[in-house]
Order: sequence, then C-alpha cells, then structure tokens
Amino acid sequence: MAFTHLHLHTEYSLLDGANRIHELPGRLKELGMNACAITDHGSMYGVLAFYRTMKEEGIHPLIGCEVYVAQRSHKDKDGTLDREPHHLILLAENNEGYENLVKLVSAGHVDGFYYRPRIDKALLAQYAQGLIALSACLSGEVPRLILAGERQQAVEVALEHRRIFGENNYFLEIQGNGLEDQALVNAELIKISHETGIPLVATNDCHYLLREDAFAHEVLLCMQTGKTINSPDRMKMGTDTLYVRSPQEMEELFANVPEALANTERIAARCQVEIKTGEISLPHFETEPDETAEEMLSRLCAEGLEKRLLQRETGIARQAYLERLDYELSVINSMGYTD
Ligand SMILES: [Zn+2]
Ligand SMILES: [Zn+2]
Repeated sequence: MAFTHLHLHTEYSLLDGANRIHELPGRLKELGMNACAITDHGSMYGVLAFYRTMKEEGIHPLIGCEVYVAQRSHKDKDGTLDREPHHLILLAENNEGYENLVKLVSAGHVDGFYYRPRIDKALLAQYAQGLIALSACLSGEVPRLILAGERQQAVEVALEHRRIFGENNYFLEIQGNGLEDQALVNAELIKISHETGIPLVATNDCHYLLREDAFAHEVLLCMQTGKTINSPDRMKMGTDTLYVRSPQEMEELFANVPEALANTERIAARCQVEIKTGEISLPHFETEPDETAEEMLSRLCAEGLEKRLLQRETGIARQAYLERLDYELSVINSMGYTD
C-alpha cells in the first residue's frame, strides 16, 4: 500500500519546521513516495519554492497550510480569550481552492493577526470552495474537545466542519506520534468516524526529515520561544517521531485502519493545482462599460494636466506638456500597464 504525507512543515514554519525543501525530494524518493504536501504554520511563504522543487524532481506537490482558526471572530484580540487558536489543515484541491487559500492566509495576516495569523469559521465558510480540510494535530478543535472530555461537542464540531467544506472534503486526522493523548484522540476519532461517516486520514505532522533530527528541532523550538535546552519549562514536542516516516512505518502504525492510509492516496490524486510561473500577472481595473481603461486613464491625466497648467500663470510650453503626456500614455498602454 502506498502513502502520502499530507501534513508537513518546511523551514518556512519559521523556527518550528526543520525540513529543508531541497532535501525533501531525495528522501521521499528513497522511501518510495511520489507525492507530498506542504502545510506550514499560518503561512505560504514556502509554496513556490516547494512547488518548483517538487515539479523539477518529478514529485507531485500538494499545496496547503496549517491555519490558525480563532475561537471567536478573527478580529477579536482579547488577552485571555483569543490566545489559543485551533489548528486546521487545508489542502487546495484545484486552482480555485489555491486562490481561496491565498485569500484566507492573507486575511489571517492582515486582519486576524494576534500572536499568530488567524482566520475564523465565517471566513472558512466564505472561501471553502476547492479546499479539503483535515482536523489537524492535538491543537485542532476536535482533538482539543476530545481531550477536554467534551465528546458530544467534538462530534458537533466535526459535523460543522463537514457542513463548511462539504461531503468528502473534511477528514478526521489520526497521527502516530506515540503520545498518550494522541492514542486517546485517535481511538475517539475512529469511533466518531464510524458514527458520522466522516472519513479518516493518517498523517505524521512531519517537522523534520530524519528521526535523528529531533534534537536539532528541539533546539530550534528553544530559539523560537526564547529558552535554552536546559530550561525546565521549555516547550517540548514529547516525541522524536515527527520525521518523514516511510510508507511501511505508517502501514504498521495504522494496520487497523487501512482506509486512513488509502485516503492519503485518494486526496493526493484529487489535489491538482497548477501554479503558473514565469508569467507577469497584472491586476484588472473595472471601468464603466462606455469607457476602456486606456480612455479613462487618458481622460483623468488630461483633466489633471489642465488643472496644473491653469495654476501656472504665464506662457509655459503648453504644447510640449501635451505631447509629453501623449508619449507617456502611449508607453504605458503599449506595455500593458494601464490597469
Ligand atoms: Zn498543529
Ligand atoms: Zn502541524
């Protein structure tokens, strides 16, 4: 059976991800995988480098993000109520989904930033088209509710996510990191999947390439949080298994839920995003139907020039200004920069 990593942090999960993009393809091929996702924390800075590198190496790239979902509105920024947004994995199924993901992540930075770039469920509902969502790690909303003993609430939130993203576009994510809490969450998620029909998917929340990189990753986390490796209260992952695991290891971990492994392949096949590179992408300006953008720009410039010429009293070379304006506009229009 094959397996695809759908939850993976690169070096662009700043001071948390230790996967160098250029080192990924070689390792993935060694392990017999031909597809992989990028899901950095709250950002898409690495997407283009990832996309290009994977394409060059013949590996199918899945474009995604592990977003932060505010517990209330993403515009609420209260010191106690809004500090712990939930994690959620979003993967673009097609170009519409990719564009929606870009909008969501941008909104998170522009309007929702509070310690982290955050979005909220209203935004998710608005931009859900073309996206596949996974319930994320132990910091996801559903896992958190399970750990809090709020099982019924967990089921309701899972159903809410399925309503937002649509049938077959929302998956309950089980991970094999060996953590006690995770085992508990996995067991409940499997039950909730049976009860609700929401499909399962297995991931490994990869933060580094090899198992032996776990210590370096702990040091990286210390740098992020301003601690040293000897600080007793430093943030710890509590596991050394967040590396790019082989399909065989994933199969062994989840032999009891083969559909969770098979779904990684189904999702990988579904996600087909084409990012056009090497092309200049300019904005389009909406004008009134009776005027083209070129005409509008010419009109506004002519009006502006008249105003400025009127402010000057004496015999300036009016004709020279008009000729120069014509010349500048012809350059702007011929280059396609009018909008
Ligand atoms: Zn997470
Ligand atoms: Zn993660």
